[in-house]
Amino acid sequence: MNGNWVENRDLMLELLALPSHVDRVVCPPSVYLAQVAELISGSDIQLGAQDVDWHEAGAFTGEISAAMAADVGVSYVIVGHSERRALYGEGNEVCLRKTEAVLKKGLIPIFCVGETKAERDSDETNRVIAAQLAELIEMVPLDRLMIAYEPVWAIGTGEVATPQQADNVHKHIRQLVAAKDKDAAERIQILYGGSVNAGNAAGLFAMPDIDGALVGGASLKAKDFSSICCATTEE
Ligand code: PEP
Repeated sequence: MNGNWVENRDLMLELLALPSHVDRVVCPPSVYLAQVAELISGSDIQLGAQDVDWHEAGAFTGEISAAMAADVGVSYVIVGHSERRALYGEGNEVCLRKTEAVLKKGLIPIFCVGETKAERDSDETNRVIAAQLAELIEMVPLDRLMIAYEPVWAIGTGEVATPQQADNVHKHIRQLVAAKDKDAAERIQILYGGSVNAGNAAGLFAMPDIDGALVGGASLKAKDFSSICCATTEE
């Protein structure tokens, strides 16, 4: 729930003027999807939604469907962000249904997983991540999916996972995917999210299993977001 009409326009115009050699997706709140779609039209920046409902259509007041998102130009949808899980009670089953709805409309889900601080402190991280991914890995085509590892304790807190901590979990995720499909495990993009900024991005991106970032706070400033994009070493 950041931004407004004027701020979005200024942010996007600034971002469009900055160079980038990587895939960039911007995910504004749903009421601004059409605005941002128009601003980025003709550029290499793609559009993502922060959430959709899993129903196809109908009497679900306040919700938007994957079809509606696709209709205004969305290509990616974030599913299972920790705030949706913690504040709106979305569990694995809802996240799976949403993922299926997103895939059905030809969009790419960015499926978020992550452990709380208490879970990390009690050495539960790998078990929690495996539980969040178990059904997903069984049920959906793995070559049409992105996974974002977002430790809950690192989101919006300024407390970033160390590159090694993040990479360990990314490796674990890749192994979970490989147990089902080795080729998909090599191709799947696993993003890290949690207080990524211009200062720590290069260290994270240097790790072998970190393929990109899901950026929250730092994406609200075009220069910071752009510096993060420039911190990647690969196309
Ligand atoms: C997020 O909101 O998913 C996130 C990662 O935020 P931040 O980058 O601000 O921690």
